[in-house]
Amino acid sequence: MTQLQSPAPAADLADSTQARVFPAGRPHAESGTKTPLSPVEVRLRIVNLVAVILPVVGLAIAIALSWGTAFDWVQFWIFVAMTYATSVGITVGYHRLFTHQSFKTGRILRYVLGALGSMAVQGAVIEWSGAHRKHHQHSDEEDDPHSPHMHPGGSWGSGIRATIHGFWHAHVGWLFGQRLKGMGRYTPDLRADRVTCAVNTQFYWLALAGLIIPAAVAGLITLSLSGALLGLLWGGLVRILLVHHITWSVNSVCHLWGTSPFRTGDRSRNNAIVGVLALGEGWHNNHHAFPTSARHGLSWWQFDPSYLIIRGLAAVGLAWGVRTPDPARVLTNRNVRAATNAEITASADE
Ligand SMILES: [Zn+2]
Ligand SMILES: [Zn+2]
Repeated sequence: MTQLQSPAPAADLADSTQARVFPAGRPHAESGTKTPLSPVEVRLRIVNLVAVILPVVGLAIAIALSWGTAFDWVQFWIFVAMTYATSVGITVGYHRLFTHQSFKTGRILRYVLGALGSMAVQGAVIEWSGAHRKHHQHSDEEDDPHSPHMHPGGSWGSGIRATIHGFWHAHVGWLFGQRLKGMGRYTPDLRADRVTCAVNTQFYWLALAGLIIPAAVAGLITLSLSGALLGLLWGGLVRILLVHHITWSVNSVCHLWGTSPFRTGDRSRNNAIVGVLALGEGWHNNHHAFPTSARHGLSWWQFDPSYLIIRGLAAVGLAWGVRTPDPARVLTNRNVRAATNAEITASADE
């Protein structure tokens, strides 16, 4: 797979990934088949539940224990509002607007979405988008910046230890590795846009604003310094931790555990738990099959609040050119996948 040589013509990414074949390794017959789970797969699913649910449960317990002392309704709503706003900045802004250009919007809203994404403190928008475009272009290959299956030196291997190692790398470890080189080729369109460049340059100020705003709001409501400090803690630091973890789960969990109704040439998965927590981003196999689609939850039951927000913006004229895949193409790709699974099952039965 050659690297992108020109501005991310995101529509082309879908076809390029679909043309690839599955890499050798763990079979990809989980979805659409009735193959019983092996003991290793059962253990991996338990790891999945623990990895995704446990931190959220831990946070809920911390909040419950702090109620009335270090946490109350004021802090609760500031925490919820900041979590939701900055998550939308990542899912609707950084991911679907800047990286994949799955819809268009005006300069002011583009700036606001970029600013909210910056407050999530996951890196400046151009670097974030470049890394993510590279992920799509080389998904689960050696050049993928954050694959739980492959690294520049080859495969992470198989078995529980290798899976946990790969999970850690995809989840957070890759952020501490070598800085990504040659990323400029992935983002010439973003670097040519003045609004995007402004957001990118102001990244550190915007990240700081993401701490000051909840502190100031909490301080004004409670008229106390302790209230402001708690606003900084819950609406700032704890919120950043939670949104980080949820976003990283898309990179790690959604390339390890879940179903793959579409043949995408990588190991992307639809994971319902991440689907809900990450505002629709967990329908990741759908997303790898149709990267430029503003809609990731392609079935009626696949909750995708980020797409609902984009639809809402379009309804009031603030977004336009919203891209979704042709339903016939979705059906065809699903059928191709189902036929492939049937072949795998049949050959396994022989
Ligand atoms: Zn992915
Ligand atoms: Zn993407």
